[in-house]
Amino acid sequence: MTDDSLETFLQPLFIQKNVSLAPYNTFRFEHKAQYFAEIDSLDLLTEALRWAKHIDIPVTVIGGGSNLLISDEVLGLVLVNRLMGKTAEVSGDSVLLQVSSGENWHQLVAYTVEHQWYGIENLALIPGTVGAAPVQNIGAYGVEVKDVLTRVQVLDVMSEALEWLTAESCGFAYRDSHFKGLWQGRYIITAVEMQLHCLPSYSLNYGGLKQQIQGEVTLAKVFDAVCAVRQSKLPDPAKLANAGSFFKNPIVNAEQHEELKRRFPNLVSFPFGEAFKLAAGWLIDQSGWKGVIHKGVGVYDKQALVLVNYSEHKADALLELESKIKQSVLDKYGVFLEREPVKLPAVDAMASIVEGGIQ
Ligand SMILES: Cc1cc2nc3c(=O)[nH]c(=O)nc-3n(C[C@H](O)[C@H](O)[C@H](O)COP(=O)(O)OP(=O)(O)OC[C@H]3O[C@@H](n4cnc5c(N)ncnc54)[C@H](O)[C@@H]3O)c2cc1C
Repeated sequence: MTDDSLETFLQPLFIQKNVSLAPYNTFRFEHKAQYFAEIDSLDLLTEALRWAKHIDIPVTVIGGGSNLLISDEVLGLVLVNRLMGKTAEVSGDSVLLQVSSGENWHQLVAYTVEHQWYGIENLALIPGTVGAAPVQNIGAYGVEVKDVLTRVQVLDVMSEALEWLTAESCGFAYRDSHFKGLWQGRYIITAVEMQLHCLPSYSLNYGGLKQQIQGEVTLAKVFDAVCAVRQSKLPDPAKLANAGSFFKNPIVNAEQHEELKRRFPNLVSFPFGEAFKLAAGWLIDQSGWKGVIHKGVGVYDKQALVLVNYSEHKADALLELESKIKQSVLDKYGVFLEREPVKLPAVDAMASIVEGGIQ
C-alpha cells in the first residue's frame, strides 16, 4: 500500500482533501487547505487530532477567518471551529459566563446586552469567534477581552488533556497573548469563562462614544453607539473583503515620542503606560496611502489602517502593498509597522526550501 492510499484508508469521512479556504477567510483569498474539516464536538476534535498525529501532519484551527492572511496552500489539517453552547451563573452583582469557542463573538455581545450584563458592549461588531478573542486579546474603544476573562479552556494538542488556564497565565498584552507566541500550536481553545457585571459600569472615554449618546446612558445605547461608529468607519467584510486593522498601533518610548512630536506636531498618539501608542492609521494616511489602489487590493478610503481586497484571488498583491506601506512609514517616521492578522502558512513554502537548502 502506498503512503497516499494508507492516508486515504485511515482518513475519517468528515475530513476532506484540497478544500479552497475562500469561504473561510474574510480577505476571501482562495488558497487551499491540504486537509479540511468543520468540528462541532470535542469527540470529533479529538478524532481529527489523533488522525493528524497518526500521519504526522500539523493542525491549524481557524474560527471566522477575520484575522487571517492566507498567502499560500496551508499544509496539514485545517479545522474550522463550530463548538457551540453557553451557560450563565448569576451570583450577587456579577455573572459568570462559560461560552464554547465556536460561538460568534458579536452575537455573544448582543446576548449579554439583552440580559443587562455589563462589560463587553464596547467590543460589539468585532467579527469572528469567541475562541479567537483571547488569541490576540481583542480590543476596541478602551476595553480589551482580558478585562473580563477569568479562564480559558484548552485542549492540549499533544496530550489531548482538556484543562482550564487562568487568565493571568495567558500573557495578555496589546493584541497579543501566549496563544500567538510561546504556546503557538500547543493548544486549541475550546471555551472561555468571563465575569460580567449586573450593575451599570461604562467605559466611554474613547473614540467619541460619549458624544454619540443622547440623554441618559444605557447599555443598549452604548451598544448601538459602538455599532454605529464602527459601521461608519470600517468596511463590512460581507461587502468588501478585509481583515480589519492590518497594522498594530506602534509603541514608542517617551524619548522617541518627544522627537517625533517635535518633527511632526500633529502626530496622533496616546499615552500607553510609560510609553506612547502612535495611531498607525494616521502614519499611513500622512504617508499618502489612504484610498490608494494597487492591482486588485487597496487602502480603505475611510480608514487607512484597513487594507481591502477588491478582486484578487491570491494574497501576492496585498503582500506587495503591505511592504510598500511599511517602507514608506519607516522612511518618513523611522517607525516599523507590525502586521496584525496572522499569516498562514506561518512560514512560506519558498522560505522553508531556502532554509533547508542553506543548512
Ligand atoms: C471589519 C473587521 C473589524 C475588526 N475589528 C477588530 C477590533 O476592533 N479589535 C480587534 O481586536 N480585532 C478586530 N478585528 C480582527 C478579528 O475580528 C479578531 O481578531 C477576531 O477575534 C478573529 O476571530 P476569528 O474567529 O475570525 O479568528 P481567525 O481569523 O479564524 O483566527 C485568528 C487566529 O486565532 C487562531 N485561533 C482561532 N480560533 C482558535 C481556537 N479556538 N484555538 C486556538 N487558536 C485559534 C487562528 O489559528 C489564528 O491564528 C476585526 C476584523 C474585521 C474583519
